[in-house]
Parts: sequence; structure tokens; C-alpha cells
Amino acid sequence: MQRLFDIPATPLVPVRGETAGYPVHRIFGVGRNYAEHAAEMGYEVDRETPFYFTKPASAIVATGGEIPYPPGTSNFHYEMELVVAIGAPAFRVSVEDAAKAIYGYASGLDMTRRDLQLSERAKQRPWSLGKAFEKSAPIAEITKAADFGELGPQRIWLKVGDQIRQDAHLSDLVWSVPELISHLSRFYHLVPGDLIFTGTPAGVGPLSPGDRITGEIDGLQPVTISIGAAE
Ligand code: MN
Repeated sequence: MQRLFDIPATPLVPVRGETAGYPVHRIFGVGRNYAEHAAEMGYEVDRETPFYFTKPASAIVATGGEIPYPPGTSNFHYEMELVVAIGAPAFRVSVEDAAKAIYGYASGLDMTRRDLQLSERAKQRPWSLGKAFEKSAPIAEITKAADFGELGPQRIWLKVGDQIRQDAHLSDLVWSVPELISHLSRFYHLVPGDLIFTGTPAGVGPLSPGDRITGEIDGLQPVTISIGAAE
């Protein structure tokens, strides 16, 4: 069947050492996966089960550019996160087998319309308006898992201008990356092209037009974005 019209192309994320890009299928986000961030949001970490939201592929934006201050919000927040790129199908995989599904890792930002997320949360509604919008997932290049090594000691931090606002280590993750993949794979057929934003450390905060933010994880390319004028 022919297409009636064209829709936006699948976004591609650069991969260190490759000329071809990593095509993005889906984006999963993990909620409250660092204890101190859960606390600043008014919760304790729930070790019974992780929880998720999703973003559309249209949320992907390359590092280095500018994103608009998005519509509908007056409290636009950064959240610096480790992103896991899936590289092999995973369905009902054990924690022990989950690492085989990992293609690589990247620095990413889970940009959030905090006022909308909190008002949705208060009404027990889904977080879509707060989380799932265009250009809300800036991401840097992917580093293959074999080139990154064991997760744990790496520092993860974020600066607004030259001020450090988030500062933690990947060992602070409440749910480890294999645990997240195993759990998600009980509910979804994970496939290459799926990204998992693994949650943010404490220190989230608001941005204004003109701000420039840089998020870094030891061993990965930093993700940096400027905030443009309000749309
Ligand atoms: Mn997040």
C-alpha cells in the first residue's frame, strides 16, 4: 500500500565508532530510581516494583543544539539520566540474561513540564503532558556496552551554566539496568531501537530561556542543550 502522506522519519542517534546511526523505535522512562530524587519529589523509593512512562520517538533531539521552552508550562525542568540502548530482542528475560540485550549507553535528558506532571499526578492521571512531548529527550552519542565496561562507579552530573545541580554515581540506581530490562521484558517485547531512560538523581530544577545545560557521565559523550525562547 502506498502512503497517503509522509510522517517524520525515524530519528537516528550517532554511535561512537560507527558511520551508521542507531534508529529509535520507542522510549521508556523510569520513575524515581534514585532515592534522594524520590525524596525531593515527596516519595520513598518503592523496591516492590519499578514504574514507567513513555515518550514518542519525536522526543529525540541531538546534543549540541537548542530546544524551545515548550508550550503549556511555566516550570520546565531538566533531568540528567543514563540511557540504555537495546540491541537484541528481549522478552521475559532473567536479570542474569538481561545484559545480552544491551547495545550501549548514552547521556540523555528527560526534559519535563514539571507543573503539568505534578497536576496530572495529583489527579491520578497519566503523565503524558508532563513527559511525552516533542524534543523532550535530548541525547548524545551511544557508546557500545563493551567499550563502556561495568556500570557502577561512574559519576553522573549536570550543570546549568557553570553551576553543578545534580551529582551522583550510577551505583546509586535503585533498580539496576539488568533488573529494569528483565522487568520491562515481562510486559513488552523489547527490540533493537528501544531506549530506556533510567531515572534521574536528586537536584532537578527549573530552566529559563537562555540557559545552557550540560549533563555528563564518566566515559560517555556529554549531552548539552540550550533553552530557546518560549513557543
Ligand atoms: Mn526522569
